Amino acid sequence: METKIHLIPVGRIEKSILEPLAKQLEKAFGCASEIHQGLDLPQETYNERRKQYSSSQILKKIRSLLEVKRLDKVLAIADVDLYVERLNFVFGEAELGGHFAIISLARLRQSFYGLQENKALFMERTLKEAVHELGHVYGLQHCPDSSCVMYFSNSLMDTDRKRASFCSRCGNKLEKINLQ
Ligand code: ZN
Ligand code: ZN
Repeated sequence: METKIHLIPVGRIEKSILEPLAKQLEKAFGCASEIHQGLDLPQETYNERRKQYSSSQILKKIRSLLEVKRLDKVLAIADVDLYVERLNFVFGEAELGGHFAIISLARLRQSFYGLQENKALFMERTLKEAVHELGHVYGLQHCPDSSCVMYFSNSLMDTDRKRASFCSRCGNKLEKINLQ
């Protein structure tokens, strides 16, 4: 059996985002990937008051639709703002040591902050958030090294400061997990 990362677009996500992301994730985790047919945004996960979608509810929906094998890792990608209870927003959410993770692209664009769009920066941020959430799925927790991809991003500044790769400690842990 082989580890595979399954990318599930939730709502419409451009191929020009998904394809390079899949290739980079294959490199980061040393495994295969597959881009799946998109899933419509489940409207019942929308919170009218917050004007955001519940990341946990979207993950629950995907869990109910998708059958996974033991080594499968699933990354859902949504282009809407996501939240969990008690937080204003989240860049993503993941099951620690499980199968499922989700990231939001909404706050990774410069235009969200009224700034000039920068595709390269946007792709870099997307990769960092994707590697971070998938890192959790692989069983990695937050890292105190602010340049490590597993460092907790409280803001986009934290995301921009860290690298898209693992520090040596997290990298070693990941290697051990992959050998299990
Ligand atoms: Zn995290
Ligand atoms: Zn680390």
